[in-house]
Amino acid sequence: MIEREQLEMDVIFVGAGPANLAAALHLKNLIKEHDELVAIGRRPGKTIGELEIGIIEKGASVGAHILSGAVIDPVALRELMPDFLEQGCPVDSTVESDAFWYMTENRAIVSPITPPPLKNHGKYIASLSKICEWLGEKCEEAGVNIFPEFPGAEILYDENERVIGVRTGDKGIDKEGKPKDNFEAGVDILAKVTVLGEGSRGSLTKEIMQRLGLLEGKEPQVFSLGVKELWEVPAGNFEEGRVVHTLGFPSDTKTYGGGWIYGMKNNVISIGYVTGLDYFDPLLDPHAEFQKFKTHPEIAKILAGGKMLKYGAKTINAGGWHTMPKLYADGVLLVGDAASFLNGQRIKGIHTAMKSGMLAAETILSAFNHDDFTSKTLEDYGEKVNGSWIYDELFAVRNFHASFQRGRWSALINGGLQFLTGGMAWGFMPMEHHVAGHERMKTMVEYEYKDDAQKNRYPDLKFDNDLTFNKVTDVYHAGVSHDEDQPSHLHILDTEICATRCAEEYGNPCQRFCPAAVYEMEENPKTNRREIKVNFSNCVHCKTCDIADPYQIINWVTPEGGGGPNYKGM
Ligand code: SF4
Repeated sequence: MIEREQLEMDVIFVGAGPANLAAALHLKNLIKEHDELVAIGRRPGKTIGELEIGIIEKGASVGAHILSGAVIDPVALRELMPDFLEQGCPVDSTVESDAFWYMTENRAIVSPITPPPLKNHGKYIASLSKICEWLGEKCEEAGVNIFPEFPGAEILYDENERVIGVRTGDKGIDKEGKPKDNFEAGVDILAKVTVLGEGSRGSLTKEIMQRLGLLEGKEPQVFSLGVKELWEVPAGNFEEGRVVHTLGFPSDTKTYGGGWIYGMKNNVISIGYVTGLDYFDPLLDPHAEFQKFKTHPEIAKILAGGKMLKYGAKTINAGGWHTMPKLYADGVLLVGDAASFLNGQRIKGIHTAMKSGMLAAETILSAFNHDDFTSKTLEDYGEKVNGSWIYDELFAVRNFHASFQRGRWSALINGGLQFLTGGMAWGFMPMEHHVAGHERMKTMVEYEYKDDAQKNRYPDLKFDNDLTFNKVTDVYHAGVSHDEDQPSHLHILDTEICATRCAEEYGNPCQRFCPAAVYEMEENPKTNRREIKVNFSNCVHCKTCDIADPYQIINWVTPEGGGGPNYKGM
């Protein structure tokens, strides 16, 4: 039995992403304002005083695990801090021009009008990692305690299933599961309110949604994977402040996929490709899709003479309104991408994540005011979301991703109609509901793969280390590090399935959907068959395997704190 230290806090936030950072800072500001108003008799109630507010973060520092495109709509940032620019918010550039390209194999057809959801003029191109680092500093200045290298490993419940805090991960366990000389037991952080803002497919969020039935009556969550590189290109190849979104090549019409190119300062560009993790083809490889995207003549022209600087991959929670779980339970709130707050049509979730965090903070203030941390008070968070601009924005595009599950043309027609009618048209159209991505993947037989030549899905992709890179090279540019002498944080619940059914039926798609070359099928001379090998130290924490595995036997849990990618500046 491991003896654990207990740390008592008032509010604990799990994950230092935009939702939780905005929440913690907003909460500090709200308490200050509340207490001042109560003190001078302009607000009824009691003063709240200094609360112990903490944020735990699995990365080595705030921002290390944060990855996004990113073009930021500053609406929530402005509500949080109207003078965010004067206060040094590190935005990179202002969007000066927008374009939408429909990509065929050889041509980029420039749309005469940029679809309104993709209009970004006046918004900010930024590194979300840098913004979070800056928000973290603001939180610390306001008195919030931030604990980097502390992953949330387990939710703590009392005997009535009320959430009472979170246990952080142990440190110093060897690969056999035994304590090493530097062993440090994880801490039980007890809090009146726990806020889960772990990002897409948070491991604790997944657990609590199942345990407390928070997805009952909702549609299954659906995800996409964004694969990104930062490049420095010759001056004149792509202007600062220019934003291009693409649809088409290399994805086929049944697969949700599109690219982006954002021009930043000093001739740096952010380029990436998003693939829906609800594709049919078991041989599809989202990393290869992105590499192929770069070989398009119009994209290759932009990158010619340039140099790749950094790499990253991350899933986004793309289903939106219908896939949003119940946002509260006794002692706990769910915010940001973990709770499906992303607007899939705009490919934007930072502003909605931040706003969700701010509404959570307002609910927490009220909970302390009433000294009640049960669902009775916390359910007000759901009401606040419904009464905010989040509802207006997300409800209007509630069927966007589901319409993509019927193919690209259905999505474009429905998306256009929806826009013209301000979301009303969805109500008149026969819509399919979201289907979980892993249920849509077809077997090799269903997809009619027959011979090996046909199975080589990317015959022209050369990985020349100039324009295109293989996964191992890209992972090097993600700055990933994990202590190899620790148990794998990728739990495969039944490896026999990998060697038998999955090999036959799907050709072990984990080797392809993982963008970091973590999974390999390797010949075992003792058994004379190919078995799964897990190179967990390559993992960039994108969560794709947990989402896309057709048998749902991969469980991503937090590794030792501090391990993972280094996305600083991405
Ligand atoms: Fe992503 Fe899973 Fe691969 Fe890690 S192992 S990089 S979480 S797909």
